[in-house]
Amino acid sequence: MSDTQGDTDRIMPEVDREAANRAAIAARQARAELKRKLRTGELSPLKALEQSRVPGSPAASLRITDFLLSFPAIGSVKADRIRRDLAISDRKRLGGLGKLQRERLERFVRERTGARQTGGRPPLTVLAGPTAVGKGTVAAYVREHHPEVRLSVSATTRKPRPGEEHGVHYYFVDDEGFDRMLASDDLLEWATVHNQSRYGTPRGPAVEAARRGELMLLEIDLQGARQVRASMPEARLVFLAPPSWDELVNRLVGRGTEDAEERARRLETAKVELAAADEFDEIIVNDEVPRAAARLVELMRGDA
Ligand code: 5GP
Repeated sequence: MSDTQGDTDRIMPEVDREAANRAAIAARQARAELKRKLRTGELSPLKALEQSRVPGSPAASLRITDFLLSFPAIGSVKADRIRRDLAISDRKRLGGLGKLQRERLERFVRERTGARQTGGRPPLTVLAGPTAVGKGTVAAYVREHHPEVRLSVSATTRKPRPGEEHGVHYYFVDDEGFDRMLASDDLLEWATVHNQSRYGTPRGPAVEAARRGELMLLEIDLQGARQVRASMPEARLVFLAPPSWDELVNRLVGRGTEDAEERARRLETAKVELAAADEFDEIIVNDEVPRAAARLVELMRGDA
């Protein structure tokens, strides 16, 4: 045994080494499963590329060559040539791509897969995700830059924040008003969010927009997203993910609009919500708002 090995043994106790081995085996299995899904077409390359923005995800640890080899009719010679054309080294994993490399690879994937319509245009699109991931910011960006998209205006029992307008950001109602909407079945879905206020989507405008084939976006919480899935299975559920957990905590604390108790409560909700990503049709990583918004609108239109 070399000295270095002896050092490692002393530094890393047996139990930790076993845990590390188990984690490595699990990561390999997750990567193998990902490759299988890519090869069979269960997962689109564009989706895998989006998922690889999440550090530590199986997609982030996928080597560029393995990614290219998962395409039909790309063998090792062609994969090498494409990789060199894209100026990406064979040691690179998807999670480690530079910004320009990622852009080039994404362009390649789009060209290769064509402007293929995947699921067609959904009647409604739901944007959900953990607290403070930036759903509101992405939705506001869509409102400003993509006028063809309609945003559903929710009813809520929460008090308006400065700058919020009744009928634009929310319909601000009292508890009795909310109860009346529930009693007359006026809400497509509703939930008590952060154990505090009630929020709900007015049914009429959402159903009407879906019927007319308009692009309709619901920015709601996870519980609401599940209800929409149950009542309207053709709706598309999009999960907005943070680039990392640390980033999410920073955003939550940095916002400064909530007190310590409220922040702790929201963090707890966020942990549970993050674990729900698998239930969604699509994941968009909110690393840059304009990019995330553009991807969202692309999905709403029914493009790949
Ligand atoms: P905020 O009070 O910060 O505007 O929103 C708090 C949370 O309520 C956000 O996670 C937002 O997505 C969610 N929310 C807003 N409108 C609705 C709605 O109509 N239904 C549900 N279920 N959640 C909503």
